[in-house]
Amino acid sequence: MAKKHIAIFYCKRIQDHTCIACAKCFKAAPLKNGKFSQYDEEIEIVAMTDCGDCPGLLMPRVPMIRTLGGHVDAVHLGTCVTQAKEHGECPLDLEEMKVKLEKKLGIPVIIGTHDYV
Ligand code: SF4
Ligand code: SF4
Repeated sequence: MAKKHIAIFYCKRIQDHTCIACAKCFKAAPLKNGKFSQYDEEIEIVAMTDCGDCPGLLMPRVPMIRTLGGHVDAVHLGTCVTQAKEHGECPLDLEEMKVKLEKKLGIPVIIGTHDYV
């Protein structure tokens, strides 16, 4: 069965505070936890980078994903990003960012990753 190649954007401010070394997403992907449950295929995380930092500088990071060309099937905004939005003052409009990224990249963008606390 074909693999799903996933790229993840994490919150630059809280990445190593909520999940040390991004262990939660690396654990969740093969277990199909949380937003990874939508895939039938084996998941491979092929890229992981920060959101560009506050105040919402994600779009300049898009070329990083583009350089990977067809090797990325979908992009996820990490659960850290949704937590930064819910519990902090993250300036990103995640729904708007999803639309913009999908238009730029031509692949699905999913808001969230694992559902571990
Ligand atoms: S939610 Fe995922 S991408 Fe974000 S810090 Fe945790 S492991 Fe890393
Ligand atoms: S823009 Fe949002 S996701 Fe990025 S560092 Fe700031 S709080 Fe975190």
